[in-house]
Amino acid sequence: MKAYAMLGLNETGWIHKDDPVCGPLDAICRPVALAPCTSDVHTVWEGAIGDRHNLVLGHEGVGEVVQVGGLVKDFAPGDVVIMPAITPDWGSREAQRGYSVHSGGMLGGWKFSNGKDGVFAEKIHINEADANLALLPKEISPETGCMLPDMMPTGFHASEMAKVTFGESVAVIGIGPVGLMCLRGAVLRGASRVIGVGSRPICVEVARKYGATDIISYKDGPIDDQILEMTEGEGVDRVLIAGGDVDTFAPAIRMLKPGGAIGNVNYLGSGDYVKIPRLDWGVGMGHKTIHGGLMPGGRLRMERLASMIVHGRVDPSLMITHRFEGFEHIEDAIKLMKDKPRDLIKPVVFI
Ligand code: NDP
Ligand code: ZN
Repeated sequence: MKAYAMLGLNETGWIHKDDPVCGPLDAICRPVALAPCTSDVHTVWEGAIGDRHNLVLGHEGVGEVVQVGGLVKDFAPGDVVIMPAITPDWGSREAQRGYSVHSGGMLGGWKFSNGKDGVFAEKIHINEADANLALLPKEISPETGCMLPDMMPTGFHASEMAKVTFGESVAVIGIGPVGLMCLRGAVLRGASRVIGVGSRPICVEVARKYGATDIISYKDGPIDDQILEMTEGEGVDRVLIAGGDVDTFAPAIRMLKPGGAIGNVNYLGSGDYVKIPRLDWGVGMGHKTIHGGLMPGGRLRMERLASMIVHGRVDPSLMITHRFEGFEHIEDAIKLMKDKPRDLIKPVVFI
């Protein structure tokens, strides 16, 4: 099969690989629509998870089932499905402990474009199909469906981790596609004031549509100073992080009220340590909690989030700014994601 891969650090290209083999619990899909992720960029151009050779990229896509294993009950060839970015081993001890995303070891549920070949291929292998695939509802187009494997579950996870609740104030650092879903998640969980941090005008426009009450830019001075000034020195109840780097935690802690929490979904692609400012952390006693997590995947999560689109709670199609037709355009889409032009939020490739 033909596939688009990380050839090595800083290098991508087309390769041929053997077709994947379908085990008794598994499925093989062909791609219907695909999207590249900023995480693919961290992986290739920052070497964030180490050097990889001929690893097929991509973990966001809608597919059509072409083959199922003998023990698969709920899916059949012809079904159009959401292929989640995270496909855990549901029988693992980590899954039984409630952390399926870490099945088989830390981040082990993240298989596509990390532990095994990703979805930018003519044939895609899905482990434990009954537990990891979800039917794409007919009300959702395949291109909008591409926001379900990763953008929605990741963004929403930030406010789940930070436990945003009614009337709270929330700062969302980063309003790319992940941050926009953080922001919408916070609004849906009942936040009152929601301050987005970013500079691309197209992202600012969509952030306002999703319910941002204020927008600031990290280019206009330290964000902690700006947010403390806007809140009369009090800070915010929750901070969601979907942009910046290892140095973003210090201002995030400073702008947080005592008792507040940070939900980080940013993939820290470089830097060895995250520094916690001692005084702003209440000299160790400020009750300021830091959570960081990979999005939960699997079928139920996909079905629930898809139902939120069907019932009008969120419209992730607002984030799709670039559309391509044809598998060969994967290359253009991932390069866009790397270059991040000012008019980009998210590209999708219809196969
Ligand atoms: P984008 O690059 O599109 O967005 C990043 C955002 O952060 C932009 O709004 C950008 O502003 C802003 N930003 C950049 N630098 C700073 C800074 N120094 N301080 C504050 N804000 C800053 O990325 P995505 O939305 O696609 O992805 C966000 C992160 O989420 C990535 O690291 C990605 O790898 C990660 N991710 C994590 C997953 C998980 O499960 N935990 C899954 C998927 C992705 P500007 O408007 O100027 O561009
Ligand atoms: Zn991703």
